[in-house]
Amino acid sequence: MKVKIDEELCMGCGVCPSICPEVFEMADDGKAKVIADPVPPGSEDSCREAVEGCPELAIKIVD
Ligand code: SF4
Repeated sequence: MKVKIDEELCMGCGVCPSICPEVFEMADDGKAKVIADPVPPGSEDSCREAVEGCPELAIKIVD
């Protein structure tokens, strides 16, 4: 499983790293970044929750 963030859509709310810190991190530019590629098997469920929890629908599952 792989995820990608559309930085044009990310408004830096911080929800994704709060749900799945293994995969998402807030960067200095105020946008979320993917720090685990591919997503570790044990983090796939929380990663899906983060995808669904993004208010901007900025995170896509790409693989
Ligand atoms: S939940 Fe969505 S809008 Fe919020 S920081 Fe993560 S990618 Fe950006």
